[in-house]
Amino acid sequence: MSTYSGSCLCGAVHYTTAGPLRPVIACHCAQCRKSSGHHVAATSAPRESVRISGEVTWYASSVTAKRGFCDICGSNLFWDGAGANLSIFAGTLDGDPMLKLAGHIFCDDKGSYYEIVDDLPKAGGRDPAMTTMVLATKGTAMAGTT
Ligand SMILES: [Zn+2]
Ligand SMILES: [Zn+2]
Repeated sequence: MSTYSGSCLCGAVHYTTAGPLRPVIACHCAQCRKSSGHHVAATSAPRESVRISGEVTWYASSVTAKRGFCDICGSNLFWDGAGANLSIFAGTLDGDPMLKLAGHIFCDDKGSYYEIVDDLPKAGGRDPAMTTMVLATKGTAMAGTT
């Protein structure tokens, strides 16, 4: 089983997770835009498989979800909502995690200053078929939807 690791920019927060990880989904919602400065690209893993060291500050961005960041360097690391998985912002993973972008959600809320130019699936809002996609094992192709 593969182990993934990641950290914030300053290194105060580290995490590891034993694979598999979900293919990466981009979220263009207003909350992701505000918190990241652009849009979010996140993978996810079963919550209990993620080991976090260091101090993560959690911000309740809605009644059902919170966002985890490092309060030293400000890096956005996690999104935690209902469901069994913890979303992990893909840019915080170390090395080459061998993951691919697999789709876009909340495209109706995207910023006007860019276009989504790939041919991947695009949902106007939330799309559980994408976000609950079967987890991929490191180095293998993405699996289908549940
Ligand atoms: Zn940090
Ligand atoms: Zn979002």
